[in-house]
Amino acid sequence: MTDTLTSPTETAQGGEPTRTLDAVIIGAGVAGLYQLHQLRQQGLDARIYDAASDVGGTWFWNRYPGARFDSEAYIYQYLFDEALYKDWSWSHRFPDQPEIEQWLHYVTDRLHLRDHITFGARVEQATYDEDRARWTVRTDTGEVIDTQFFVTCAGMLSAPMDHLFEGQDSFRGQIVHTSRYPESGLDLAGRRVGVIGNGATGIQVIQTIAPQVGHLTVFARTPQYVLPMKNPKYGDAEVAWYKGRFEELKQNLPHTFTGFEYDFVHVWADTPPERRREILEDIYEDGSLKLWLASFGEMFFEQEVNDEISQFVREKMCARLKDPALVAALVPTDYGFGTHRVPLEMGYLETFHRDNVDLVSVRDNPIARIVPEGIELRDGTVRELDVIIMATGFDAGTGALTRMDIRGRDGHTIKEDWFTEIRTTMGLMKHGYPNLFTTAVPLAPSAALCNMTTCLQQQTEWINDCIHYIREHGKSVIEPTDEGEQAWVEHHDETANATLIAGTTSWYLGSNVPGKPRRVLSYTGGVGVYRDKCAEEAAEGYPHFAIS
Ligand code: NAP
Repeated sequence: MTDTLTSPTETAQGGEPTRTLDAVIIGAGVAGLYQLHQLRQQGLDARIYDAASDVGGTWFWNRYPGARFDSEAYIYQYLFDEALYKDWSWSHRFPDQPEIEQWLHYVTDRLHLRDHITFGARVEQATYDEDRARWTVRTDTGEVIDTQFFVTCAGMLSAPMDHLFEGQDSFRGQIVHTSRYPESGLDLAGRRVGVIGNGATGIQVIQTIAPQVGHLTVFARTPQYVLPMKNPKYGDAEVAWYKGRFEELKQNLPHTFTGFEYDFVHVWADTPPERRREILEDIYEDGSLKLWLASFGEMFFEQEVNDEISQFVREKMCARLKDPALVAALVPTDYGFGTHRVPLEMGYLETFHRDNVDLVSVRDNPIARIVPEGIELRDGTVRELDVIIMATGFDAGTGALTRMDIRGRDGHTIKEDWFTEIRTTMGLMKHGYPNLFTTAVPLAPSAALCNMTTCLQQQTEWINDCIHYIREHGKSVIEPTDEGEQAWVEHHDETANATLIAGTTSWYLGSNVPGKPRRVLSYTGGVGVYRDKCAEEAAEGYPHFAIS
């Protein structure tokens, strides 16, 4: 343990550090909390820094109305500790944000992590000093930390796209991005509210606030395939049922294609046409992401299969909509089901039948600017509003780190590197940045193509084992080689380009961020395969890494 509050050592940019640590972790969410626990268990002096005032990560920031899981709660829990798992009980199959936030408080307290977290401190800058083989990390509160290892658990979807429109500051009412929704809420009763965006977040907001507001205007650009969520309350019997499956889940989840409990069990080519429809109907009734993540795997690779399943979902959506104008604006026709993130919803489509809800399609008549009175479209029409909720998404995968000033060897910066080409080694490290470990960044399985807790447990465990290996072998530095990284990027691209996702436009490829280089962000070879490849790398002594 090396925690001291002062040190005589000069930092990378001169000046004395205010604290010396073995490991700095950014972020007190699902990944950061478990990473902290593991590193402390192996004897490191590790500390989390988080801009938030408490734990939760994604579940701290995303407190907008209607925020809830799309993964079944009992598969979103950590599986490394049976008692930790079983001593927490969920109220529903897909609980809401306040309950999820409480669960992360429970985890923090059970693992005694709170004393090792600095809240309200945003990491702004980090520089690697090659001579000393150490990082200097600076926060906006003036802390300067000298550390050997630097681990980012800053989230895949944490850098909001919240400055998108000319004139945003001129708006006379309240304007808020969903991931910065105030803890005290907003008074929406009787007010004219506009929601921009109909991704997974916008859908949850829209269906939740429609009955509360005076008038709701939804500004939707790209239609979304949606699936109805069935969200039963959990009583003692359901809780006993899922807790009784702990061992099964522990064995199963890490090895499925998406880290969910279910997998692709049906093969389109082997199934007679009339039976395919029955299977789709059956799975649709489950009210979960199963239709997307556990029906026919060929959906991701074969256009004809995708076309048929897309048509099935379109029919389901159309049957719920009364007005052809709504069908035209809300039901996708120009991309395939499952090639964008599929949201679950509860009454989202029916919301547009309410008298106090208007849908404005901004595909052909886009938002031009925000004016003091509301939102102005390109044709000059102004929709007058009191509140604007921006459900406009995130700079996914890279944004959390490119918005910091992270400097590796030889003047490399993450910002410049990732605005040139998005490259990582297994999403766990990056060439040019020794002893910098990453979670929830591109080229590892992530958001919805992975149940995040499954993937984040595996990634943080890999990092923990790697640091243990280095220390046990009397070494101090690890960095992926250029060739090692190239090999992973090629494997990633080959896998991604075999899917239909590669031909689409969404945050899955970074298309929503101006200037961001295009690459399928999530690894698409399957969670189980990815896990095996990571394990193999470690078992063989990290052949794609240089260790000194
Ligand atoms: P998103 O999927 O990127 O959706 C952003 C929305 O804003 C889209 O409808 C987009 O339209 C729209 N938009 C962006 N810029 C616009 C502009 N200039 N004019 C008009 N519309 C604009 O973001 P998100 O809904 O926040 O979801 C991000 C991810 O977070 C999800 O895919 C999911 O992985 C995760 N999430 C998970 C949960 C859960 O598990 N329960 C809930 C919410 C979110 P275009 O599509 O046309 O660009």
